[in-house]
Amino acid sequence: MLFEQLRLDVIRVGIEMLEKGLTIGTGGNISARCPDGEHFLITPSGMPYHTLKPEDIVMVNQATGEMEGPRKPSIEIHLHWKTYLARPDVGGIVHVHSPIASALAAARKPLPVILDVCAFNFRGQVEVAEYGMSGSVELAENVVKALGQRNAVLMANHGSLAVGKNVDVALDRCELLEKASHAYLLSQLVGGAVALSQETIDSLLSGVGKTYGQQPAPGGDKKA
Ligand code: 13P
Ligand code: ZN
Repeated sequence: MLFEQLRLDVIRVGIEMLEKGLTIGTGGNISARCPDGEHFLITPSGMPYHTLKPEDIVMVNQATGEMEGPRKPSIEIHLHWKTYLARPDVGGIVHVHSPIASALAAARKPLPVILDVCAFNFRGQVEVAEYGMSGSVELAENVVKALGQRNAVLMANHGSLAVGKNVDVALDRCELLEKASHAYLLSQLVGGAVALSQETIDSLLSGVGKTYGQQPAPGGDKKA
């Protein structure tokens, strides 16, 4: 089967999303761009994540929308498809219904950059996409517009979405969005959060944001 490992990654991330409390039941959806650069894989609509088999994951042609597989794709196929077209840097997309980010989405309040990790991961304020009905092309267009070049977006009266180089990074960002939304709401109890300035965000991104973690050893990462 084509892209079997990627299909397994999509299923694993679906189960993790559920176990982390970022969604309930069959809510949310996940997709991954295929290494052929022509297709993406997406979860089927309304199927419990624990029951999914590699063949349940639908393969979609990015140019034509032609689909392969026995299952009906997620109703949010346009959301994922339009995001891949707008963001060539994105390899994985996760859409969740996590409670605290959803509270901000319901109130239609963006999440400012209140923590250093928000700057590194989201690359700016997490905006609220204008309302569009679940599964609509309008929702997809509103989300792509509000996402811009950042890595997460709130979806008015619905939930949130994060992107990354792969599905694991996108899931981590959904989790971080939930934690940062929680911190933001708690900070209201102690006088309100102070958002970082654009100057500080830029310095973080060009400084520690670039050098954090293990850098390649001098001479590249050639094997000894
Ligand atoms: P699907 O099961 O069709 O992916 O729908 C879930 C969802 O979250 C719709 O926004
Ligand atoms: Zn949804």
